Amino acid sequence: MYALAIHGGAGDLPREPFTTAREAAYRRGLAQALAAGQRLLEHDGCALDAVQAAVTALEDDPLFNAGRGAVLSADGTAELDAAIMDGTDLRAGAVAQLRHIRNPVQLARAVLEDGSQVFLVGDGAESFARQAGLALVDNDYFITPDRRQQFEALKLRQTQANSGVSTPLLSLDEPPLGTVGAVARDGAGRLAAATSTGGIAGKRSGRVGDSPVIGAGTYADNHTCAVSTTGHGEWFLRTVQAYDISARLRYGGYSLANAVSEAIVQRLSGLGAAGGLIAVDRLGEIVTRHNTPIMFRASVREGEAAAVDIY
Ligand code: ASP
Repeated sequence: MYALAIHGGAGDLPREPFTTAREAAYRRGLAQALAAGQRLLEHDGCALDAVQAAVTALEDDPLFNAGRGAVLSADGTAELDAAIMDGTDLRAGAVAQLRHIRNPVQLARAVLEDGSQVFLVGDGAESFARQAGLALVDNDYFITPDRRQQFEALKLRQTQANSGVSTPLLSLDEPPLGTVGAVARDGAGRLAAATSTGGIAGKRSGRVGDSPVIGAGTYADNHTCAVSTTGHGEWFLRTVQAYDISARLRYGGYSLANAVSEAIVQRLSGLGAAGGLIAVDRLGEIVTRHNTPIMFRASVREGEAAAVDIY
């Protein structure tokens, strides 16, 4: 029995008016990405290919904060991070600080397949992408008019708040939104997870969050579960969140629902952190949870109808 869940970020409602048409566009984007992964699982594809296909679709959708449509760093450029993990043999690929890779999750997959290293960043990662024959684009490709406007507004608010004193633009009062991720269990019982992000709007150039860090934002192990997180990455890094959920199953005998509930409701909320996650266990049970007003998400299990949710 296959199971697939995806997310498009957790946080507050977007600042711009969240019209019915805009909500419908988010729902459509989620449904299309879910279908891209589900098509593979339907035809005995593996969980790893399914999460890559779903995340690639979300990276290409300018509504989400990954690939095209990523938020901007303090220097006004897009810097992208991604990771992918195979729960069968714990192979993983992670990439960060990319400025020119059209689909960061595909580069993460190439790193996983190469297998000699796990985590590549910056120029080195991009030259590996060239060798791997991946599509490179100008940084402008990622920057949509909405993100440019968000960046200008953030700069203005910050300048006003500090009466002209220059500080990092990053505002932790404003939960981020739009990072994307996917977790899957395929018909053969294999688990996989992938996450991709532009990070947090106004982040210091060079800042890397939880998303590409194996164990923090992304983790998969066939014996336990697959997890992809979204929210304030600094907290997910500090709590090694994705691995924490897996460890609760492995060493504590937790059910997935209890592990996720303790992680999000008690631990993260107790720390004042905002975010959410999606997870699937080895039996195909899907759990999604967030302590923010919304989390864009969708899921489907073999033989059941797909569900798309926001609130
Ligand atoms: N967790 C991501 C990061 O901190 C942001 C997000 O999920 O929205 O980079």
